[in-house]
Amino acid sequence: MIKNPAIRFDNVSRHFGEIKAVHQVDLEIGDGEFFSMLGPSGSGKTTCLRMIAGFDRPSEGKIFLYDRDVSNLPPYERPVNTVFQDYALFPHMTIEDNIAYGLMIKGMPKIKRMKRVDEMLNLVRLPGFGYRKPSQLSGGQRQRVALARALINQPKVLLLDEPLGALDLKLRQQMQVELKNIQREVGITFIFVTHDQEEAITMSDRIAVFSEGKIEQVGSPSDIYERPATEFVAGFVGTSNLVSGEIAKRATGSTKTFSIRPEKIHLGFAGDTPAAGMAALDGTVRDVVYLGLYTRYLVEIEGGADLVVIEQNLKTTSMDVLSAKGQKVKLSWHPDHISHLGS
Ligand code: ATP
Repeated sequence: MIKNPAIRFDNVSRHFGEIKAVHQVDLEIGDGEFFSMLGPSGSGKTTCLRMIAGFDRPSEGKIFLYDRDVSNLPPYERPVNTVFQDYALFPHMTIEDNIAYGLMIKGMPKIKRMKRVDEMLNLVRLPGFGYRKPSQLSGGQRQRVALARALINQPKVLLLDEPLGALDLKLRQQMQVELKNIQREVGITFIFVTHDQEEAITMSDRIAVFSEGKIEQVGSPSDIYERPATEFVAGFVGTSNLVSGEIAKRATGSTKTFSIRPEKIHLGFAGDTPAAGMAALDGTVRDVVYLGLYTRYLVEIEGGADLVVIEQNLKTTSMDVLSAKGQKVKLSWHPDHISHLGS
């Protein structure tokens, strides 16, 4: 339970005929959190965001914004604003007028409006760009204008629907850092929808992982990565090895399925005695991919499982690592680094 959550979903469903876009979701998002909804296409993230904004309504359940039931409130009566992937700027207006649009509609006098526009342009690091038109800006700059235009209305919650999706990788990474800084500066709740796990991990205080209209897990980036609760989360967020049955029993004493991340596994020589307290399995290197910074090994465990192991190339060269192919090895890891999966 979060004290005074900004958003609360109470058993919320949104069905479109047979399609269960969102199904029986309970969720709390804290005031001032940078919260991401992460999941593959069609998993229900956007539908959740649209229901918070008021563009869509639950078929069942209730949505609370700061303890007020907003389930049936129209969008303009909610203290929420949305930033979309396609910016949705007015092409014929200057940047200044685009940003000031919401305040103009509300009837704020021009001098006051322009002062606020200047503050917003500074916040999104675009001072002096006010007189340009959207076509005279780059994609990243346009996205910052869209952000300024949403923030100028002083929403309590900002919704961001894949806002960096149209940008190239380098710009995306730069904008991820800037978005996080801006969120800290304004201190309001950001709810960010993405299918990009790295993006969610980089920016979020907490993440909800969605699959088929349901939330599989909610937690901090390290919870989600280090302690995936289900097979789906282990597979969707980063690369993970799943070990079950007899092979799991050899390593842990139990047949219960567990996951282990490739970088947590130490690759040793076949005859090595693992350090005290470490879990271990014997195997044979079936494949080696040299990737410069690190090397990825595919190790076949006796009895059938294949485990991926990643090792940094601290001292090794490409020749050293490639000669590992076909060799018998001992894999070991600290038992704290495995995660037992619920389903
Ligand atoms: P993406 O990342 O592709 O935007 P998403 O996780 O945001 O996906 P949603 O857009 O929430 O997913 O869609 C969830 C499911 O609901 C999908 O199967 C989608 O086809 C369906 N859906 C969404 N809106 C409607 C609608 N208006 N009518 C019928 N089905 C819909």
